[in-house]
Amino acid sequence: MSRLPGVFICPPKGKADGHQQALISGLAGAGKAATFLSQGRLEVAPITVSVDPSLCRYCGRCEAACGFGAIQVAPAPGRYLVAQVNEVRCTGCGACVAVCPSKAISPGLLTDEQVAASLEALLVRD
Ligand code: SF4
Ligand code: SF4
Repeated sequence: MSRLPGVFICPPKGKADGHQQALISGLAGAGKAATFLSQGRLEVAPITVSVDPSLCRYCGRCEAACGFGAIQVAPAPGRYLVAQVNEVRCTGCGACVAVCPSKAISPGLLTDEQVAASLEALLVRD
């Protein structure tokens, strides 16, 4: 299993040399996934983004990019305008993060550095 509950990688890094090992690792991964999915009820933390109001220039690009109507530029206490996230609607897709010119929006679950570290750990061979 990866660091994210419910995300399985088969075969695990460095665990499969040859077809038979890959098959065994794959079956083991499938067994773990089946155990995870048979719990009947799964609870997951909501994945949303957050906006740093001090960086937001209220350009509205995030609002235009969001396909879920989950982020809106609106007046806020002590601010003229600022992008605000509706956490109920936000799916954490990251489209707004990609278009923000001032890097005011942070992914809720993983930072860029954490994503890069996870990819490096997965892709770099021993
Ligand atoms: S794209 Fe970034 S700077 Fe523009 S309104 Fe959204 S959060 Fe603010
Ligand atoms: S992460 Fe996706 S759903 Fe959430 S506010 Fe940004 S664009 Fe909208």
